[in-house]
Amino acid sequence: MPKDSRDSRYDILFEPLQIGPKLAKNRFYQVPHCNGGGYRDPSAAAEMRRTKAEGGWGVIFTEQTEIHPSSEITPFIEQHLWEDKDIPALAAMAEAMKSHGALAGIQLAYSGINGPNLYSRDVPLAVTGGPILTFTSDPVQARTMDREDIRDLRRWFRNAFRRSQQAGFDLICLYGAHGFGIFQHFLSRATNHRADEYGGSLENRGRFLREVIEDAREVTKGELGITYRMSLHEAGTYGFSNAEVRDFIEMHGDLPDLWDLAQGTWEACSGTSRFKPEGAQEDLVRGIKALTSKPVVGVGRFTSADAMVRQIRSGILDFIGAARPSIADPFLPKKIEEARFDDIRECIGCNICVSGDMTGGISRCTQNTAFMEEWRKGWHPERARPKGPSSSVLVVGAGPTGLEAALQSARRGYQVTLAEATTVLGGRVARERTLPGLSAWGRVADYRTGQLQPLTNAEVYRDSRLTADDVLAMGAEHVAIATGASWRRDAVARLHLLPIPTDPAMPVFSPDDLMAGQGPTGGRVTVYDDDHFYMGSLMAEVLVARGCTVDFVTPATKVAEWAENTLEQAIIMRRLLELGVQVHLSKAPETIGPSEVNLGCTWSGAITTLPADAVVMVTSRIPHDGLYHDLAARQGEWEAAGLRSVKLIGDAAAPGPIAWATYAGRRYAEELDMPDDRGDTPRFRREVARLEPGPSRLP
Ligand code: ADP
Ligand code: SF4
Repeated sequence: MPKDSRDSRYDILFEPLQIGPKLAKNRFYQVPHCNGGGYRDPSAAAEMRRTKAEGGWGVIFTEQTEIHPSSEITPFIEQHLWEDKDIPALAAMAEAMKSHGALAGIQLAYSGINGPNLYSRDVPLAVTGGPILTFTSDPVQARTMDREDIRDLRRWFRNAFRRSQQAGFDLICLYGAHGFGIFQHFLSRATNHRADEYGGSLENRGRFLREVIEDAREVTKGELGITYRMSLHEAGTYGFSNAEVRDFIEMHGDLPDLWDLAQGTWEACSGTSRFKPEGAQEDLVRGIKALTSKPVVGVGRFTSADAMVRQIRSGILDFIGAARPSIADPFLPKKIEEARFDDIRECIGCNICVSGDMTGGISRCTQNTAFMEEWRKGWHPERARPKGPSSSVLVVGAGPTGLEAALQSARRGYQVTLAEATTVLGGRVARERTLPGLSAWGRVADYRTGQLQPLTNAEVYRDSRLTADDVLAMGAEHVAIATGASWRRDAVARLHLLPIPTDPAMPVFSPDDLMAGQGPTGGRVTVYDDDHFYMGSLMAEVLVARGCTVDFVTPATKVAEWAENTLEQAIIMRRLLELGVQVHLSKAPETIGPSEVNLGCTWSGAITTLPADAVVMVTSRIPHDGLYHDLAARQGEWEAAGLRSVKLIGDAAAPGPIAWATYAGRRYAEELDMPDDRGDTPRFRREVARLEPGPSRLP
């Protein structure tokens, strides 16, 4: 579509802007973000960035790139730039980023007090020594750097600047945000207790950053833009507070070529939509632009073009920073430019992408099923591969799995029928979007429903609960059974592998019951959570809102422990305490009586009794696979019915998070008409470590 299709209200977003010696083609700035692939999956990471270049971003950054083995954050998988042989992987990344005219940026990191060095085994070096501050309480301390160490560190940064330039990057970002980078450790009195010229006054604490930026300009001969990513606010008496941040920028307004502002901790900066609205860091950013002549970028999970324009017009930001919105829709700038607003696949703020980094897996995105599969599988967020020889597909069930399977199959060119038992499209998303704080999750259904609507080769039938007879009568060549799952009520999950004895007089409910408006409306209720993600705490919230007194019981040592991976665990615990919920850790119901729950301690086995009027089980889910098995039992009738394949997908096969469901839908559509080797070869490309030439043992 030509550029003149653009709505002139958004012109400002497409104005070019200088970052030091480099000109960004527009204001869309993909801030550094991890992807769980890093140095292990360099081609997958590079191709993911290329997709963003294609989607119109003006600036694209790598994830954190560690400059030296004396500071690395294993088990998290980021990039390495430790020696010249790391350059080619990053050069491929830079080339991909620049492929459509974006500026390519590299984020350089030295983690200091945050790097346990579990891989390199070097002694960690910090501004001020002490126990390593990370998510995992590693039993390791860092040594305080002396002046010689600081000189070494400057030299290591100089090496990284030379290598970054050699790799072809336009911009270098120095990482000093989220409590993670050495520059912040120098600036903050919480982590800098030095008595030399690098400690004490703000002037002194800023010395290292000034020196390194001078070094960067000298090494790169002023040819690269140098940006500084800084925390907007560090909490605590000695933290680098928002007031000090402002003092520092006032003192050093022209130091970097751009100020990249990120809210305090990573948890605060990348808050989920359940707890943080769009534009949540505005109060901390407002007014900073006036303190510097250099451009300012900030984030806020921006997906609305109007909100972006407001940030710029009201003088808060110069560039619109985005990590998650760029993951959910790499083509966000292009869609705004072409006024295709309904096509924007908005981030739902679930942080499943973050969990890929936190778990050492590879990141995935609930909304953009192609994320990190661009190279591994050849998937694209916008383009579909042409269809194979067969022509028709029936998808049963319009939850996230079925909606994605139908949309992607239709985009490939198959004739698609989507049948849904109820009158509402969205399945579990239609229910979960009604829970406190989860309304943005509805975008999973809204985007797909909206995209299916204009397609002439896709028909959607509501109120159509299909039986095996119906499916056989419909004549589709391929059938996807995406009929979902229901929460159990018998306590079976991880701790209890078999149902526990339960007195029939005790009312027992599941999250499905509560989401359907049933369940207790008062009294004392036990919520038993052996799921460990978001649902348990949401059930407690719903019950408190209904006037119940809630006991939250979990066999884990903390509530919602998997929510560590979405950066929500601490905030969930705080929320439960604020709501007056009684938390019972390391406990699980052993038996349920008519008016009590008998809890066993997971350590000692000691039994305590909790009075209860009702129980809500947040445990595991039972797949709805009956239709699939009915059809499988009638395979002899398939040929006459024109049926060639029946597949069970999504929650109906194996319940999981919504991102697993959308992924299953995409995979189904991608693999239509593909030869099925029953898993004898991997279904994705991967990189295998190259063996190093040389002797097997060093002398
Ligand atoms: P998933 O997460 O795998 O998409 P959901 O539970 O969200 O699973 O969605 C499953 C959908 O399938 C629900 O909307 C449900 O109403 C629908 N469904 C279940 N059985 C049938 C059936 N026999 N015919 C049509 N739709 C069905
Ligand atoms: Fe947004 Fe969730 Fe996708 Fe992350 S995984 S980009 S939070 S939709």
